[in-house]
Amino acid sequence: MKITIGLFLAFISISSFSQVCKNKGPNVILFTWDGVRSHEFFNGTGIFHANQLPASDRGEILKTFWSKHASEGTVFGGGSRYQIGSKIAISLPSYQAIMVGHPTNCMNNKCDSIQEVSVLENVREFLNLEKKDIAVFASWNRILAAAALDSNKITHGIYPEIFDDGTQDEQMLKIQNEAMIDLPKWKGSRKDKYTFELGMHYLKKHCPRLLYISLVDSDEFGHDGDYPNYVRSLRQYDEYLDQLINTLNSMGEYGRQTTLLVTTDHSRGPGPLWLGHAITSYSEKNVFLYAKGRGVKATGRTKEMGNHTNIRPTIEYLLGVTPTGEILPNISL
Ligand SMILES: [Zn+2]
Repeated sequence: MKITIGLFLAFISISSFSQVCKNKGPNVILFTWDGVRSHEFFNGTGIFHANQLPASDRGEILKTFWSKHASEGTVFGGGSRYQIGSKIAISLPSYQAIMVGHPTNCMNNKCDSIQEVSVLENVREFLNLEKKDIAVFASWNRILAAAALDSNKITHGIYPEIFDDGTQDEQMLKIQNEAMIDLPKWKGSRKDKYTFELGMHYLKKHCPRLLYISLVDSDEFGHDGDYPNYVRSLRQYDEYLDQLINTLNSMGEYGRQTTLLVTTDHSRGPGPLWLGHAITSYSEKNVFLYAKGRGVKATGRTKEMGNHTNIRPTIEYLLGVTPTGEILPNISL
């Protein structure tokens, strides 16, 4: 009897899973890590911070990414080859430029919300998708001011929200509740581990066409001048990225039809200026972008140029929406 019930449950879970993902078309996942300096992304820890880390923690940081995943996709950046899309290296202006595909008038983190539809809303409208097909999970509350002109048009779990739009379930409420009693010392965010957990749960359950997961711990540790924890957060992101790719690889056709884009909103100052950004005229604008999956050439590191204003048109192109600008190089269907 036990075996029969076990088989029955296995059948239910397999059939409900494949049913959710069936015949939904191509997908894109955007994954951002706030304030990750190009130096640490490409080169690992530097001489400047050597005495703040035990010898075993120095050197390459994103070990799994560089050994396993970088060559499976294309990695933009290095020098000024890949830059942010906003006029200034500050989070909200940069996220807004990613979402609308050009610089906005926003010049700080307190500015107004975007004044036009975002890529998330445009994709939903163009493809006539259900609200649950477009989802955002963000640790930082101000992502809401970049994600949508009308936030009711998309599914979102942006701090401090416990949304109620029909997609929440017991597991999501449990994660949200845990997050709210375990807040970080900085204001306006939940800890990344809960945001990532929410995003991964949503991905597996709802197979969204466009999913955006936005993390922030790295930038907060940077502003605190806490280099060991900044590096630790990047190691955690390395593990999250591996987990995300492994999950997509286990999702059959959904995974094969998905393109993953990973980037940061801005870099950080050089040497002793690493605590902040928007300080020097150029270096914080130089960032990285990793693309992998459907439509992406597996070149590893590339010398091709690009910037964050190419992200929106690239997402649109990949999903079959008329691109509103120039797409990234090394992307072709
Ligand atoms: Zn910052």
